[in-house]
Amino acid sequence: MLSLRRRDIVCQQAVELVTDYLEGALSRRDRRRFEAHLKACPNCSAYLEQIKLTIQLSGEIEPEDLTPEARQDLTDLYRRWRSE
Ligand SMILES: [Zn+2]
Repeated sequence: MLSLRRRDIVCQQAVELVTDYLEGALSRRDRRRFEAHLKACPNCSAYLEQIKLTIQLSGEIEPEDLTPEARQDLTDLYRRWRSE
């Protein structure tokens, strides 16, 4: 688990927090930071939606299972955004 010392979280941190967020495992402060980042960052909010959809489609409510591929997806997504 990351410790978030900085006021604003960056995309990479947001991504690290997604599974904890979905599990309800974040502290209230971290959750608020995470949600604040999502509001400001369409990329991460799109990513979260994609993860939620993946969970729905797979019928799993265990985000840990998704983490490796989720990270791979993210890497691909960011690569694409950067190249646009
Ligand atoms: Zn972001």
